[in-house]
Amino acid sequence: MRMIFLGPPGAGKGTQAARVAEMFQIPHISTGDILRHHVAEQTPLGQQAKTYMDQGDLVPDELILDMVRHRLEQADAHRGWILDGFPRNVAQALFVEQLLSSMVNGIPQSIQGTDLQVINLDAPDDVVVKRLLARGRKDDTEETIRHRLQVYREQTAPLIEFYHNRDQLSYVNGSLSMDEVTVQLKQAVAV
Ligand code: AMP
Repeated sequence: MRMIFLGPPGAGKGTQAARVAEMFQIPHISTGDILRHHVAEQTPLGQQAKTYMDQGDLVPDELILDMVRHRLEQADAHRGWILDGFPRNVAQALFVEQLLSSMVNGIPQSIQGTDLQVINLDAPDDVVVKRLLARGRKDDTEETIRHRLQVYREQTAPLIEFYHNRDQLSYVNGSLSMDEVTVQLKQAVAV
């Protein structure tokens, strides 16, 4: 099972991805979590990524793509994974496609249809802003939140159409309570 969770910051991707990962016993891979780990450890990647993260901008693809490739090559990811916070733009989505198609002995594998499932967990701005302000992470100031939402609408939201066109998208209403969202997700995943 390979899944991608799309949606604006504050839609509940992290919480829900963790629950679904637990259900299917596959790793929940959050690029934000991996980056925050690098920042905390002050690795070269963390040092380079920090300014972008503090401002709510996307970390450049050349830093992100190797990091993701490396994570997906780990043994625990062979049975499947849930990606949370990646891809964040069309270039990253094309990277996932290429990575998947190159995975089986160099024989191009179609990832159309059931192989990759993308969940669009959406919620309106007023709902996500309220949630993020309550969460209070370092990059959760009102100004940064507004900027992250703008970055989401400009760079990430085009992926909704990208995956819709590939017939890989399911929609779940992220404004519902966390438990209600989980119920809806289970239904979406079971289809
Ligand atoms: P998140 O925890 O997903 O909200 O991510 C927190 C921050 O990490 C974002 O605001 C970005 O600066 C950075 N980040 C996380 N994932 C990505 C990604 N796939 N591409 C670029 N930057 C990312």
